Amino acid sequence: MTLHLRPTAPKTEGARAFLAAPDKRLLIDGAWVEGSGDRFESHDPASGALLATLAEAGAAEVDAAVDAARRAFEGDLWRGMTPSARGRLLWRIAETIEAHADELAEIETLDQGKSFRTARFGEIPAAAEQFRYYAGFATKLLGTTIPTSIGYQPPGKKVFAYTSREPVGVVAAIVPWNSPMLMAAMKLAPALCAGCTVVLKPAEDTSLTALRLGELMIEAGLPAGVVNILTGHGAVGAALAAHGGVDKVTFTGSTATGRRIVVAAAGNLKKLTLELGGKSPVIVRADADLSLALPGVARGIFHNAGQVCVAGSRVYAARPIYEALVDGLAREAARLRLGHGLDPEVDLGPLVSARQAERVDAYVAEGAGAGVEIVAGGKRAGDAATFYEPTVLTGARPDMRLMREEIFGPVVAVTPFEEDEAAIAAANDTRYGLAASVWTRDLSAAHRMAGSIRAGTVWINGHSYFSPELPKGGWKESGWGIENGANGLDNYLESKTVCAIL
Ligand code: NAD
Repeated sequence: MTLHLRPTAPKTEGARAFLAAPDKRLLIDGAWVEGSGDRFESHDPASGALLATLAEAGAAEVDAAVDAARRAFEGDLWRGMTPSARGRLLWRIAETIEAHADELAEIETLDQGKSFRTARFGEIPAAAEQFRYYAGFATKLLGTTIPTSIGYQPPGKKVFAYTSREPVGVVAAIVPWNSPMLMAAMKLAPALCAGCTVVLKPAEDTSLTALRLGELMIEAGLPAGVVNILTGHGAVGAALAAHGGVDKVTFTGSTATGRRIVVAAAGNLKKLTLELGGKSPVIVRADADLSLALPGVARGIFHNAGQVCVAGSRVYAARPIYEALVDGLAREAARLRLGHGLDPEVDLGPLVSARQAERVDAYVAEGAGAGVEIVAGGKRAGDAATFYEPTVLTGARPDMRLMREEIFGPVVAVTPFEEDEAAIAAANDTRYGLAASVWTRDLSAAHRMAGSIRAGTVWINGHSYFSPELPKGGWKESGWGIENGANGLDNYLESKTVCAIL
């Protein structure tokens, strides 16, 4: 395992200029303003370098942002904007993101740690694509006319009924740190398409691309108050979740925080969309094409250093290929080059923080103490507190914490199975239900298994395939509601029935 930590600096003029103004502010009603809480620091997790100081929103700024979003929601400029103009605005935001893709990717890499390749060719274009996809929907938010069978209309009268779809109102969008820009785009694009206004709360460890996106959206012509951005810690999210002026919370993050939001949102019975944690199973049958499965399964867990909600952290391998899969995954783990994400030779960056690396290490140490075998990795890499070696474990028991809880690091446990039924039972033995994958050449078996796994997404011979047109949601304790696709708009629309006696 090699750790490359060569000195690196952003190359784009845009990223350098953004970081040259290090005291970041809040976006409220189209203006960048100071927060009333104590400023806090944002660091590069690979080098520890200070990147920026961020404003902590206090109660006054939470109120101001919600008020601004309410005024914008009710104001003529946003309400009166035609669907076509709203669609064109979303398209312009997509183009602006694309025009700034190098710069945004550099900022994301510096702030979050992920490799530049992942940011530049994966997540930043995917964020732009969210806006492009929903741009087309703004003109297609249709209602229906309904033939009714109501028998009691007055003689000579007719009942004419139809539905219309209307924006839910002021949305609080609270996002996590693993894919910051993409998570923000997955909330903003459908919410704006529907005609809602938004208060966005990025994660405290990774707020920078959200702030830069705020600048770019204003450049693209977004009216003041339509999107407001509040940086700060969990208390800011909690205040939004409890706020009487917020109509809806759309949240992506841990199941524990999701539960708190459910309680906080009860006051005015806010609508909720919750995209929560996972413990995704991967089933590799004996007839799988290992030349595809090995790199695919490895990517499914090690990509973004395992900080992915759908990370395939529990692998069930059919007995005849079990040894080959364990050896192959260990080889893949050892092959990956760790280092600063801006270094083009690097495959994996650090974890987002030393705190996260400690969490990951604690799961592995606890497992090792209880008899789990570490086949690859199992420790920090180099001297930096944030790098963790891609880790392959065997011999884990189903009741162990590392098999039941989300680790959110590059750690996979491989377990053999004899029969398909046993693999399905093991895959479903979890309180989560976010995603899964099945690897096999047998199409019938693949679809039978896909039908038996209790999760919102099942991939066949792949893992972690996402796109705005593919609905994505969690079953069981992985969440409420669906994001992406046409269904994703339901999160931001109310349905109204109009019934007229003509
Ligand atoms: P987290 O729950 O700790 O924090 C997420 C966001 O919530 C942050 O902005 C945080 O400041 C805010 N927050 C914290 N406490 C809050 C409270 N009481 N009320 C309101 N907001 C609060 O999650 P994280 O550690 O940033 O992210 C990792 C988690 O996100 C993992 O569990 C991962 O599975 C999940 N995730 C899920 C998906 C999905 O689509 N299902 C996608 C990405 C990440």
